[in-house]
Amino acid sequence: MADRRLFSLDEILEKPILVSKNKQVRIYGIESGIRNIDLKGYVRSDSRGDYFHKVEIDYLPSSKHVLSGTCSCESYQFYGFPCKHMERIRNVYVKNQKRLESI
Ligand SMILES: [Zn+2]
Repeated sequence: MADRRLFSLDEILEKPILVSKNKQVRIYGIESGIRNIDLKGYVRSDSRGDYFHKVEIDYLPSSKHVLSGTCSCESYQFYGFPCKHMERIRNVYVKNQKRLESI
């Protein structure tokens, strides 16, 4: 489980594969399984805009479902799966899927 904490840009050492146009989502890890995709990234905090949450999801492209995930946000720590950051990283991946598959 990801610890509850916020990351400033200076603390994010992973090189992004993709940064969303609005700079809210940074994807740095994509691993394809047989049916699922493991996505890792950072999603900007709504309440503290200088900081990011660390998010990881297990995503099923055929149904566009997020199967499971972890996030460093308060909502995930309190309520568990899913949280809105997981949906955001999924949406950015879906939007850029063709481009990402060609990398
Ligand atoms: Zn979250």
